[in-house]
Amino acid sequence: MSERQVVTRIAPSPTGSMHIGTARTALFNWLYARRTGGKYLLRIEDTDRERSTEGAVKVILDGLSWLGLEPDEAPVFQFTRADRHREVALDLLARGRAYRDFMTPDELTEERERARAEGRVVRSPWRDPEGPVDASRPHVIRLRAPQEGATRIDDQVKGEVVFQNVDLDDLILLRTDGTPTYNLAVVVDDHDMGVTHVIRGDDHLNNAARQTHIYQAMGWETPVWAHLPMIHGPDGKKLSKRHGAQAVGEFDDMGYLPEALRNYLAKLGWGHGDDEIFSDAEAAAWFDIRDVVGAPARLDWDKLNHLNNHYLRKAEPERLAGLVKTVLQSRDWPVHEGDTETLLRTLPLVREGVPTVLDLADAVIFALRRRPLDLPEKARALLTDETQARLGRLSISLEGSEWTVPALEATIRGFAETEGVGIGKFGPALRAVLSGGSPAPDLAGTLISIGKAESLARIQDALPN
Ligand code: GLU
Repeated sequence: MSERQVVTRIAPSPTGSMHIGTARTALFNWLYARRTGGKYLLRIEDTDRERSTEGAVKVILDGLSWLGLEPDEAPVFQFTRADRHREVALDLLARGRAYRDFMTPDELTEERERARAEGRVVRSPWRDPEGPVDASRPHVIRLRAPQEGATRIDDQVKGEVVFQNVDLDDLILLRTDGTPTYNLAVVVDDHDMGVTHVIRGDDHLNNAARQTHIYQAMGWETPVWAHLPMIHGPDGKKLSKRHGAQAVGEFDDMGYLPEALRNYLAKLGWGHGDDEIFSDAEAAAWFDIRDVVGAPARLDWDKLNHLNNHYLRKAEPERLAGLVKTVLQSRDWPVHEGDTETLLRTLPLVREGVPTVLDLADAVIFALRRRPLDLPEKARALLTDETQARLGRLSISLEGSEWTVPALEATIRGFAETEGVGIGKFGPALRAVLSGGSPAPDLAGTLISIGKAESLARIQDALPN
């Protein structure tokens, strides 16, 4: 491999959702390009015209943008390049590296059956025709692939993988209707985009051998190959719906932060010693495709939750407030003006052990409730005459208190002393009237979150008028 600038790419087919495996492939391509000072490109493989709707393309673009893995240049759309793919096929034909195959569908079916019975791949009699052919008859164009020897893929992840050429048929380059096939399009596009490193899922490992034949026939330099293992579910089986989530959008909907997912995916099949948490810059400085593990990686929700909590605790409260509001709105929870202020006070106090933004949305409800709070039966049972009277006196102390955590803690402690009772005598009732029975932080944190005027009003509401 000559010392060219590294160019990586991802080449997703728009299917309507973006698989988490595609996200990891994107991340590894992105990291490798950052590590080497190279370029990271995107090609949309949209030749399946039925599936490749505008919406399906948007899912990919949105997914990459959410992940923070946008390409360095505008995406290449494979379908728009069909003429160029045809040109290469005809070039191969002109140079004797491809041939016209006139087998009819029936003949092909028969040949397939014969080949299966004889334990060999399909071979076309048109590879070496006797005499001139009539190009006006329907035909496909096939690559004249080597039939002897072996094709070696020096894979950066899998090691050396050897394919016997006798096991590979002459792949079709252009179909009868003149449309280019998948393998041709991939090779021509990768070549024209200057791709030096093809880092992709190992479901494409077999294609690497066939694609190598096209590179060789064109006299083009083959890229460095790196085929990444699949991501499996926690049980070691192929990731599927029953494992909870597979699409990038689902992770977003489940309240994971993109930086947490990036960190998590980087750890999935690659890692830097025992480091669990690292920044993008660190990952980019350390990443080497050769260190990726060849065995399938397993999704581990506990680890992802742990990482997500780390990034939730690091996130700017303004950003979290926006995310939480979106979740609340999606649940038809009425978000009011002024709630942002409440959220900014509350979020830092409730995000300690919380795994996702959805849990964070549950954790702020107590502060956003509107008066008068509808107290659950259990809370009302706490409000005996004695306790109500005590809360009335406490309310006066609170009114005179500074509204900071230490001051409020001191006020509550001092009040308990003055009353000659433990905090347990009125704490649970105070919590209940403040939170309406929703989960809430400790008393001082709850008071701070709700704010002074609102806290005092909620206490007042619970007292007899
Ligand atoms: N379009 C292929 C896919 O979505 C990827 C092809 C490639 O990376 O070469 O699986």
